[in-house]
Amino acid sequence: MTIAEQAPIEAASTELDTRLAYRTCPLCEASCGLEITLRPTPDGEQVARIRGDRDDVFSHGYICPKGSTLKQLHEDPDRLRRPLVKRDGAFVEVSWDEAFAEIERRLLPILERDGRNACAVYLGNPNAHNLASLLYNRALLRGLGSTNVFSASTVDQRPKEISSALMFGGGLNVPLPDVDRTDHLLMLGANPFASNGSLATAADWPGRLERLVERGGSLVVVDPRRLRTAEAATEWVPIRPGADAHLLMAMVQVITSESLADLGACAELVTGVDEVVALAAPFTPEAVAEVTGLDAAEIRRLARELAAAPTACVYGRIGTTTTEFGTLASWLVDVLNVITGNLDRPGGAMFTTAAAGASNTRGTPRVGRPVKLHRRSSRVSQLPETFGELPAVAMAEEMDTPGEGQIRALITVAGNPVLSTPNSARLDAAIAGLEFVVALDIYVNETTRHADVILPPPSALQKSHYDIVFMQLALHDAANYSEPVLPLDPDQPTEWEVLARLALVLQGAGVTADPAIVDDLMITSMVQGSVADDTSPIHGRDVDEIVEALDPRRGPERIVDFLLRTGPYGEGFGADPDGLTLDVLLASPHGVDLGALKPRLPDVLRTPDGMIALAPDLLVADVARLRDALDGRRDHPFVLVGRRDLRSNNSWMHNVEVLVKGKSRCTLQLHPDDAASLGLADGDDAIVRSRVGEVRVPVEVTDAIRPGVVSIPHGWGHDLDGVRLSVARRHAGVNSNLLADETLFDPISGNAVLNGIPVEVLAASAG
Ligand code: SF4
Repeated sequence: MTIAEQAPIEAASTELDTRLAYRTCPLCEASCGLEITLRPTPDGEQVARIRGDRDDVFSHGYICPKGSTLKQLHEDPDRLRRPLVKRDGAFVEVSWDEAFAEIERRLLPILERDGRNACAVYLGNPNAHNLASLLYNRALLRGLGSTNVFSASTVDQRPKEISSALMFGGGLNVPLPDVDRTDHLLMLGANPFASNGSLATAADWPGRLERLVERGGSLVVVDPRRLRTAEAATEWVPIRPGADAHLLMAMVQVITSESLADLGACAELVTGVDEVVALAAPFTPEAVAEVTGLDAAEIRRLARELAAAPTACVYGRIGTTTTEFGTLASWLVDVLNVITGNLDRPGGAMFTTAAAGASNTRGTPRVGRPVKLHRRSSRVSQLPETFGELPAVAMAEEMDTPGEGQIRALITVAGNPVLSTPNSARLDAAIAGLEFVVALDIYVNETTRHADVILPPPSALQKSHYDIVFMQLALHDAANYSEPVLPLDPDQPTEWEVLARLALVLQGAGVTADPAIVDDLMITSMVQGSVADDTSPIHGRDVDEIVEALDPRRGPERIVDFLLRTGPYGEGFGADPDGLTLDVLLASPHGVDLGALKPRLPDVLRTPDGMIALAPDLLVADVARLRDALDGRRDHPFVLVGRRDLRSNNSWMHNVEVLVKGKSRCTLQLHPDDAASLGLADGDDAIVRSRVGEVRVPVEVTDAIRPGVVSIPHGWGHDLDGVRLSVARRHAGVNSNLLADETLFDPISGNAVLNGIPVEVLAASAG
């Protein structure tokens, strides 16, 4: 069947007084299809109901409790509809022209006086789920021209991007666990029952894992906490926080020393095998037993079972990346996938073929450039640049340490670093001390309360959507485009126009400059790049002719159409009339199914030598640090780890009543033995102290956590002065990042340590 034949056009209306609309949920990586019922109102339309779209080709009706709250988010009276400017310490609503004029009047003189680096940018996690910001943030960054760029990536997945880039030639060239076909899944530091998968896009992870176990497969969950995913597993391995790299290296040692390694079909494509064997040699199960808190015989068994499984995959997520050995752990996950012969085979760890294209579908197969990392350092502590960004842990000191190059101003885009990044108290004070802050955000939150100008984008229901990033990480190839469900408010610009206009203001083009200038430049440069690429379907064609063929679309829709048409399933501007276009997706409200993941080696590789680099120099050099940590010495009584909850989405959805009502979820979990020794019982308040801060938090005693480990979820702490989140304030919780120490990070990636923070715990009554 051709792609075009898969596209049934259906009537959207089902009843006289209601209309059905379909869209992909943009809230998390699961990318669930939603069916939205709209009913007419005197002013237009209102959302009556949101439920899972049973016909969605990717999610098949699955939805989590957050998905239906797009209605509440849209209708939230606290959501900003018009720009705010701070005058005499208080926010006042202004027109869009006034807001941009204020930015021009106050920010440009700072840039002229102190240079472009005087203004930093922080990009929050929602940008990765947002079509307009994914495409137009780069214009904003170019318009500003600052090297002080920070994002949520360095409190999350940056280590995996780096290991993937070094091994396979692209930060998003990530091998994905083929959960639906595997016999054995070894999962570390992930809880998809709460987070629905991450760097592994799929709806209904819980159902997929349950089906794996039902069909007789093994699900082994390595985590200091016995969370819901571990409850559903065939085995829970309660490792010490931060020791995943040691465990993985020991498994490599067992598999290689016992001649269990079999690289299978990729054997001829791998370099560095002997080097890895030598590196792993000292990491015997006995040598890592202390640091991992696991029995050597158990580690040996885990390795043998992985090697013996008919098909298997190793998958590590946030618990592996937010540690001091995050990049090594991320690398070793894929070393195991390679040496067990599971890379790129069904049931193993596979690569997507993204419909809108990706770094592993563009350009010449097996041709790539060296990965450039650590090209510069931060001013104060010389922390490393990665992929054009500096680590978020460096942000506060770059703002509050006097001297040449000090950050004086900040632009945040959908970010709340005061809750999301380490040593929140220091960062909060540092941002408060800046000369000027601009925020693109829908709320006055813990960070944006410091803003001088807030530019609110439309709600998710007022925006179009295509998952450009997460369809590169999907466990099944598919494509789905969503039109806006509701119209913009009067005078509300689209999000891309806000970003483009800000970029023009920053470039000095003035507040009246037409955002279309940015849009036209972007599409022209994309077409020029594709025309020059001899592997592109439009190689050698006329640039103007291609741009005209995209008429009359503008903005993200024009770019998405271009990406789809030149992508691996695209119609190639006439090359394949049955291929994918935006029109095909518009006629396919439930998406287009592009099939299960397919073996893609060797073409998927973009490394300089066209091979899989099993022993990249940067990581090999870092193994000495892992060796030095083998003694497992600890001079602190407890370590703190985070946790996620199905009804939370980092910090920004706690203003939705239905997601926060009921018993508080912001508790300190600790083991009964620890509770007894500290004289704490369920519901008591504990004081938790780290090098940088202290919080008072109610205790939840549970045997679902290792002794010596305590856990507080992140994203809470909504009771700061000036925050305009009326519901969240009533369910404030405490901010776990008041305890996270900005001096703890993975030196390769600069990624923050958020799992394994040394802390002291005592009963509040004793404090
Ligand atoms: S799991 Fe929930 S939040 Fe994530 S995409 Fe699906 S409905 Fe949305």
